[in-house]
Amino acid sequence: RPTTEILADKDAPLRVLVVFYAPIWKLYKSMMLLEGRTTDMLEQVKLWCDCPFWPDDGMCRLRDCSVCECPENEFPESFKAPSKRGLLSDDLVCQEGKPQATVDRTLDTKAFTGWIEIDNPWTHEDETDNGSCHCEMTYVNLQLNPERYTGYTGPSARRIWDAIYSENCPKYSSGEICQEKKVLYKLISGLHSSISIHIAVGYLLDESANLWGQNLELMHNRVLRHPDRVRNLYFTFLFVLRAVTKAADYLEHAEYDSGNHAEDLKAQSLMRQLLYNPKLQAACPLPFDDAKLWQGQSGPELKQQIQKQFRNISALMDCVGCEKCRLWGKLQVLGLGTALKILFSVDGQNHQDPPLQLQRNEVIALVNLLNRLSESVKVVNELVPSIEGLVLEP
Ligand code: FAD
Repeated sequence: RPTTEILADKDAPLRVLVVFYAPIWKLYKSMMLLEGRTTDMLEQVKLWCDCPFWPDDGMCRLRDCSVCECPENEFPESFKAPSKRGLLSDDLVCQEGKPQATVDRTLDTKAFTGWIEIDNPWTHEDETDNGSCHCEMTYVNLQLNPERYTGYTGPSARRIWDAIYSENCPKYSSGEICQEKKVLYKLISGLHSSISIHIAVGYLLDESANLWGQNLELMHNRVLRHPDRVRNLYFTFLFVLRAVTKAADYLEHAEYDSGNHAEDLKAQSLMRQLLYNPKLQAACPLPFDDAKLWQGQSGPELKQQIQKQFRNISALMDCVGCEKCRLWGKLQVLGLGTALKILFSVDGQNHQDPPLQLQRNEVIALVNLLNRLSESVKVVNELVPSIEGLVLEP
């Protein structure tokens, strides 16, 4: 099956679970308010995984902004704290607002780091209890929280994108020769295009009738009428695909444990189909020659500078004022950070380098990002068979 189909497969089980941290702090804060905890405690909460750049002013119009967390009976057995094991799963339905929605925060923390705990120089790590910030962890079923229109718009959303583009990855001028800076800009712009496409594909057409559907005008205005944004989407897709291909050996043998053996086997099989799809290498042009990057005298310095910018972008995700957008923003930026780590922090040819090691969440983020980009590319291909000027830049 073509890669885009495998990745767009609604049943693909790799997308089931993700651990995320900061989006929960607001919920937690309101819970504490309800329980009448002291102001001291609240202050402490405020510091936890707070947006490092501005005070929180998250505004989101729709109920759809909020994330529906997994109740504890949906957690994979192996990830539950030992005392909670043995609870049977109910139907996988959004439990938001129901008593069953109570979230178990006493998960077996080892489960989250069951694979390996290893730093990624490209990503901003939310600090844990040992540091200044405490981030609540919970599980989210991504299939019950699709990336789509949430009504998050206006100055809060604009401020995030402005900070990303103006301070952290300015658009390069046409004469610019620094490939590395171009790469960062294109990756972010490509991700932005993909987010806009998912907003347009899952748009709330009529709020009173709760009618969802495609908003082609929005898609056209935000993405399709800008060939460079479409090109950047393709670039980002190829970039992530290349990272996945480079990490094929690791990804093939990674432990896919969701607590459901049949699902895990299916995940492994889908992964192999993806990694060893003969069309993959033949059909995909290389987005760039990664061996040529970071080479010059200033290479190491440039890499540090761009890593810092990317870490800032990653930290900015804690400032996204809508839970669901923040969930998908964090997930996808982590996916990009993972792709950057695979392509630029580990040299498969040089045996002196440390071998590639990924955290469980990095693999989940990488595969989900590829799925999101893949679905966006599919939509663009279907809607616009030939976009004038759509040529991949070397
Ligand atoms: P925006 O998309 O906010 O764009 C701001 C400016 O950036 C544009 O005016 C343009 O100059 C430039 N720009 C736009 N696209 C590109 C591109 N591809 N490349 C380069 N420059 C570009 N909203 C939802 O409804 N659902 C979501 O899941 C969601 N997730 C989000 C995740 C993140 C991380 C962020 C920051 C925002 C998210 N939003 C989401 C909000 C959404 O992205 C828009 O900000 C919002 O819909 C307002 O759109 P806008 O027309 O002002 O343009």
